[in-house]
Amino acid sequence: MGDGRPRLSTPVVWTDLHRLHEPGGEVWVGVRTPGTEVPERADRIRSALADAPIVEARPQREEAVLAVHDAALLDYLASAWDDWEAAGLTRDPGQDRVVPYIFPHPALFSPGVSPALPAAASARGGRFAFDTMTLIGPGTWEAARAAVDTAVTAADLVLAGEPAAYACCRPPGHHATRSGFGGSCYLNNAAAAAARLRAGVGGKVAVIDIDAHHGNGTQAIFYEDPSVLVGSVHVDPGAGWFPHFLGFAEETGGGTNSNVPLAPGSGDEAWLEAVRSLAGWARAGGAEALVVALGVDAASGDPESPLEVTAAGFRAAGRELGALGLPTVLVQEGGYDLGTIGALVREVLLGVEEGAGETGGAI
Ligand SMILES: [Zn+2]
Repeated sequence: MGDGRPRLSTPVVWTDLHRLHEPGGEVWVGVRTPGTEVPERADRIRSALADAPIVEARPQREEAVLAVHDAALLDYLASAWDDWEAAGLTRDPGQDRVVPYIFPHPALFSPGVSPALPAAASARGGRFAFDTMTLIGPGTWEAARAAVDTAVTAADLVLAGEPAAYACCRPPGHHATRSGFGGSCYLNNAAAAAARLRAGVGGKVAVIDIDAHHGNGTQAIFYEDPSVLVGSVHVDPGAGWFPHFLGFAEETGGGTNSNVPLAPGSGDEAWLEAVRSLAGWARAGGAEALVVALGVDAASGDPESPLEVTAAGFRAAGRELGALGLPTVLVQEGGYDLGTIGALVREVLLGVEEGAGETGGAI
């Protein structure tokens, strides 16, 4: 570069299709708010990584998505917007995004009775969404599907011999479960990358989620799969943070799941100790490849979390993860401070390269 900045060698997988997803805000406590999961996030990251090799996401067959999601969820997401519009809901009551309003809460049902798929487009979303914040617009499905392509392309690069690859995914994915979506996530990109790696390496794969929020979707998808270890460090849901209902330390999945909840206000020291312990846990569990669910919303100053991690902390986390010496796919999750998101992702990627170099490993 000639400007003294270290040059990134990790390939960055990218698609312009992410811009098709304009959430149009979110409905939180019944109020339409501007939301923070905006197209500019990915564009800011890409410009901070301008010196890295860019690889266009390759379209993947549906099997890549079906490896981690039910067909019913895909069928719903693929047609949700068209059905909403065809039902006239954009005119009456004048709602320009798909917003669920009724949910099949377990308390509705007698034993042995399961929820029907609602005939009304206005009600169908509640069958699959677990919150009201994750709105569907005209290009949401195409962008979400392209985000899976992005993550799986990164996995393929690693399986072809790249020591590490970064998937600049948007919308994010780690809150999406096998049959449900929410938390600004529609399809679980990191899980799809893990499934591809699992098929490619034959041995165990670890997912380490360093986003500020619990990766509940990835946990749920692999909870009973001993071949995919899932660890997550996040702000304690018991202290009042999304996803509220789960993400606690006692959710261990018989030993293949590890949650490290942190108190609000936790900074580099506690957060890095958690990253270090999850890395050691993945190593001890016999992981042969790694997916990093890379949210940078644990940053001090991020509007969506109360954690206080610094840029140096993100660099050090990258070093810890790179030092595992495993083939590594990094998949973008959260991160909502547009002023710092790109620089923080860059710190993690540089850290991974440094850590891998120190092990004398494949990089
Ligand atoms: Zn997050």
